Amino acid sequence: MGRRKKMVERVTALMNEPEMIRNIGIVAHIDHGKTTLSDNILAGAGMISKELAGRQLFMDSDEEEQQRGITIDSSNVSMVHTYDEKDYLINLIDTPGHVDFGGDVTRAMRAVDGAVVVIDAVEGTMPQTETVLRQALKEHVKPVLFINKVDRLINELKVDSQEMQIRLGKLIDHVNKLIKGMNEERYKAGWRVDAAEGTVAFGSALYNWAISVPMMQKTGITFNDVYNYCREEDMQALADQCPLHEAVNDMVIRFLPSPIQAQEDRVSVIWHGDKSTPIAKSMKDADAKGDLAFMVTDISMDPHAGEVATGRLFSGSLSRGMEVYVSGAAKKNRIQQVGIFMGPERLEVEKIPAGNIAAVTGLKDAMVGSTVTTLDGMAPFESIKHASEPVVTVA
Ligand code: GDP
Repeated sequence: MGRRKKMVERVTALMNEPEMIRNIGIVAHIDHGKTTLSDNILAGAGMISKELAGRQLFMDSDEEEQQRGITIDSSNVSMVHTYDEKDYLINLIDTPGHVDFGGDVTRAMRAVDGAVVVIDAVEGTMPQTETVLRQALKEHVKPVLFINKVDRLINELKVDSQEMQIRLGKLIDHVNKLIKGMNEERYKAGWRVDAAEGTVAFGSALYNWAISVPMMQKTGITFNDVYNYCREEDMQALADQCPLHEAVNDMVIRFLPSPIQAQEDRVSVIWHGDKSTPIAKSMKDADAKGDLAFMVTDISMDPHAGEVATGRLFSGSLSRGMEVYVSGAAKKNRIQQVGIFMGPERLEVEKIPAGNIAAVTGLKDAMVGSTVTTLDGMAPFESIKHASEPVVTVA
């Protein structure tokens, strides 16, 4: 069986097992390394060719795929990652890299349950780090931390191994103060990031390595080893022993929630309809047999398929030919194609169950923020608002 066919089988099998899905976003201040990180974890997971990673291109070099004119959508990508001998589907929603697009970050946060917060080890948290973190916490999207550019601490700032660890510790403390200040209830519920537990990874996206405490235990690599490899400019040895995608994806799978774990809490924040109704229960449980509840978080133009509405399916199943209500529209819309993501490619499927990120055509009345449902008169999801409160100051 060809590589592509095998991947199609794995992705379509996983889309039916919501407990094996992680819907996540990567958020960062501009230039802290979000693009480099996304490209390299995608290449590490075998979803794009290694040659293209780092050139900020989500593409597949497979000639056959190019000839068939498949759709490349760089704003949503997915990958299959194996952790503890089990396959997981990680759906990664792109978030814009500039603070002016705060509204778009909020849209992306609607679709996901977890976020990898990327921070440059030298620059530390910046105003936009705070903005994106606040947006995540406001939407009850759980954070984990990736401290990037650790190589710069060693090779540019020339700190020693002990100083490196002190600086990393201070950065983590600062992030925790921010989390506590922004959402104390979630902080107390265990959303503190903690290196010892494994909710923090350290590394260098550019040089393709990363390490977390669980990974240190597994590989025997210590902070001193990291320091020495960087100083000796042998980061390839680190990349071989502690590949970036493994550290980051293991962390995502272990510590960010599946739709089944997340939806009750997420729905309580973004939907204020009657909690005693069957649709409330179905969204809470990510029930594929319930009425349809789909929230549109992005609209893009596809040269082949026309307008594509991408969003999060909280309840029910999407399939071709379905007649649905779109919030604010007088007439029902008819769904034409339904697809999920495989790498950067949109893959057309027959049916998509709750818990997935889905891409749909035929929703001619849909806009970003629309609620799409089979239930006449369903209370729509909360409108998408950009969090614009003042920056939290931490002493
Ligand atoms: P984004 O704006 O957050 O998407 O950041 P990019 O991924 O475009 O990275 C910004 C710059 O930082 C680029 O020049 C990258 O090559 C560089 N960069 C990214 N990761 C690292 C790293 O781990 N170490 C170093 N030294 N540079 C990095």
